[in-house]
Amino acid sequence: MAGSAEQRRAPLDVRLLEGQKALVTGANSGIGKATAIALGRAGADVVVNYVAGAQEAEEVVARITGFGVRAYAHEADVSDEDQVVAMVARMVEEFGTIDIMVANAGLQRDAAVTEMTLAQWQKVIDVNLTGQFLCAREAAKEFVRRGVVPEVSRSAGKIICMSSVHQIVPWAGHVNYASSKGGVGMLMQTLAQELAPHRIRVNAIGPGAIRTPINRSAWDTPQAEAELLELIPYGRVGDPEDVADAVVAMASDLLDYVIGCTLYVDGGMTLFPGFATGG
Ligand code: NAD
Repeated sequence: MAGSAEQRRAPLDVRLLEGQKALVTGANSGIGKATAIALGRAGADVVVNYVAGAQEAEEVVARITGFGVRAYAHEADVSDEDQVVAMVARMVEEFGTIDIMVANAGLQRDAAVTEMTLAQWQKVIDVNLTGQFLCAREAAKEFVRRGVVPEVSRSAGKIICMSSVHQIVPWAGHVNYASSKGGVGMLMQTLAQELAPHRIRVNAIGPGAIRTPINRSAWDTPQAEAELLELIPYGRVGDPEDVADAVVAMASDLLDYVIGCTLYVDGGMTLFPGFATGG
């Protein structure tokens, strides 16, 4: 049906983000990796955050510098306040400032609620929700301090929260994850309301089913993929590049008047496809 990401799309040569400085968390795998590369291709200098897997992070850095922009890898756990503060401080030192924060890092620790430990609950909330708060806060401080630089962007800064369709779709067996993403939705909207007067744009991207390591079991056998496709009206599982290109658009001045929105990149998963024939 649909070809690979490389087959179906021409390279995005327009350098929509020329001269901007971006940080992507969890950027050595899946959606974060594709996003960091897409931001570099669009002309941004990029900090590639990772928590484990230095070699993969360096490979992403090499891809990005190949576009003639700057990049470096930075190890930090997004749920650790000191490490996030130090990561953004180093970026301001090395790149001069930050224009785009993509709070992407996330994980799952699945269990039925009757089996779920407090540690499983807390780990997911710490990384997926508190991690996004810390990254958004540190970026916002620098955006407010610096203000708008018209030659760079119409806004003083962009915060993009990587959410999920589970921001609004309940998910049995994943109460920690769904709660974290529901929280990300309200975090994003509240920050958008609070920071818009500073000309800071806060938005979220809500991926559906994207082929990455986080959900390998959902697509890596023909039977699993067939079951997954029943939830996707558009008839294909998403690629990380589908999400990455949405982040580039969201970060660019093309969407300067978009504030406090969640853009679902989900092949129609949030359209309740079961109701196409039932209900
Ligand atoms: P992934 O497992 O490939 O990538 C997750 C990244 O986050 C990895 O690089 C991982 O090392 C990093 N990470 C985990 N804990 C971290 C921490 N404490 N500090 C810093 N980095 C940390 O999975 P992915 O699918 O690329 O997920 C990226 C984001 O997209 C997540 O927020 C996930 O919830 C979201 N998402 C993914 C899908 C999907 O179908 N793949 C759907 C909806 C939302």
